Amino acid sequence: MQDLPSDRDALQALLDFHVEAGVDLALDETPHNRFAEPKAERAPAAAQPQPSPSKPSPSPSAPSPRALPKAAAAAPEEVASMAREQARHAQSLEELEAILAGFDGCALKFSAKNLAFADGNPEGRVMLVGEAPGADEDRIGKPFMGRSGQLLDRMLATIGLDRSQVYVANIVPWRPPGNRTPTPQEIAICKPFIARQIELASPEIVLCLGGPAAQNLLGVKDGILRTRGRWFTYKTEDGREIRALPTLHPAYLLRQPLQKRLGWRDFQALRRALDGRE
Ligand code: URA
Repeated sequence: MQDLPSDRDALQALLDFHVEAGVDLALDETPHNRFAEPKAERAPAAAQPQPSPSKPSPSPSAPSPRALPKAAAAAPEEVASMAREQARHAQSLEELEAILAGFDGCALKFSAKNLAFADGNPEGRVMLVGEAPGADEDRIGKPFMGRSGQLLDRMLATIGLDRSQVYVANIVPWRPPGNRTPTPQEIAICKPFIARQIELASPEIVLCLGGPAAQNLLGVKDGILRTRGRWFTYKTEDGREIRALPTLHPAYLLRQPLQKRLGWRDFQALRRALDGRE
């Protein structure tokens, strides 16, 4: 007869089940009846981390949503305007990172372990912008550190580049819980910071990695399969024009390896542009 599982085995199985289901983060210790709470205490759903479908054990780095500072609970338009105001004040990338680290307007900050502001060389001719950090980036505090980052490095190497020659960032610098897609409100709140980051880094070329980066930076509506490989103009708030090229996100290429040839094509176009041949 098979032994009954011990408490430990049962707990491990439960945790494994949660991780497989994508629940890899504890947001809170106890369930809340949000409908029963007074309105003033509630943050708007869009600015809040999404409630976890399960109730895993508490984590010391995951404060209760109730403990979110007032800024993260304000209306998203109000927070976005605070973000614009604060981002505008940064006179250097170091200042911008410090301002962002102290900015409490995006609830993602309170579920993330670290701010993943940038990696690479801010003096590089090319700036790569992705969507949002994942688990590895959150742990290390830098963009594109996991499997997508490794593929990105291999793609850069095919055109003779590495991280010491390019600057890397994301539209949203904090990891959305469970790697979910950032909400439009979270993107709107973080956008003034990435816009200022591009302005301050002032690259010759912005490479948009994936649809969300292309759509949010370039204002294009079409999906990435239509926009990739086409040159656009990114306009900074202070009126400068920067060449911008959307390409497929490395995470997509990991899932759809046959599409890698399109990615390689875009990277060849980037090489030609850097060599003044396109
Ligand atoms: N995907 C992104 O868009 N950015 C990262 O930093 C990692 C994965």
